Amino acid sequence: MPGRLQHKVALITGAGSGIGLESSLLFAQEGANIALVDVNAQAVERTHKLIAERYPNVKSIPITADVSKEQNVKDMVQKTVDAFGRLDVMFNNAGIMHPEDDNALNTEERIWDLTMNINVKGVWWGCKYAILAMRQNPTDESKGLHTGGSIINTASFVALMGAATPQLAYTASKGAVLSMTRELAMVHAREGIRINSICPGPLKTPLLMDFLNTQEKKDRRMVHLPMGRFGEAIEVARGALFLASDDSSYMTGTDFKVDGGLSSCY
Ligand code: NAD
Repeated sequence: MPGRLQHKVALITGAGSGIGLESSLLFAQEGANIALVDVNAQAVERTHKLIAERYPNVKSIPITADVSKEQNVKDMVQKTVDAFGRLDVMFNNAGIMHPEDDNALNTEERIWDLTMNINVKGVWWGCKYAILAMRQNPTDESKGLHTGGSIINTASFVALMGAATPQLAYTASKGAVLSMTRELAMVHAREGIRINSICPGPLKTPLLMDFLNTQEKKDRRMVHLPMGRFGEAIEVARGALFLASDDSSYMTGTDFKVDGGLSSCY
């Protein structure tokens, strides 16, 4: 059976770890050729090697880039189109949550700026250059390839709820991702470019485990998790695959929650 991303080209940021790593492996399994992007060169090389070993029928290219730098983002999209001839799926997933105290009263401006630059500006640049590339996509009806494409932006459940732990810049940045996604989705819907957010719940990835760095902090968060466990990165990757593929062809502008029910509980 053909994979759900057969003949498609994806670019995934934050591909060296967590959600980005699992999505890279899953998208490759589903037949996509992939540009793997991360600021951590060793991590992105590792993902590239894993794909080559496990899925020899697809191609991936490792790119070291910082998504908060416009020229880096422009170049990574261009490298993708140069290598594969098109861009069908853009997964703007790279993000940080600063492990230092980050509340309104004592957070430092440098933490605020760093968080906004990566989590918000990085998604803006990613959307901008993906939209420009997707408009140019050649069509090939025999392979189900069209102009347009699917953009997925990683937000978070905290953008929907407000966290009781001090992470103000992070929460604000993810709220910006949601509203930016909705507006871009409306503006570009008639070009066949679908743009959705994915809102993960708390996951067992380095990003959250570095933040919840004591058993007490983990236990406190666990009280609020309806399923009584942290999520796995692969569980979010499966949601991203749905948004990336034509299975979600009538979805745009949505906040797609993969949060174990957290945002529905009181
Ligand atoms: P992770 O730390 O495991 O992976 C993030 C990856 O992004 C790392 O490989 C890192 O090197 C890369 N990265 C960081 N800054 C970058 C930059 N400027 N340019 C390019 N790459 C950069 O984290 P994760 O949990 O997989 O998080 C992925 C996304 O999911 C983030 O946007 C995060 O905010 C979001 N998220 C995570 C959780 C969670 O509980 N882990 C919950 C909700 C949302």
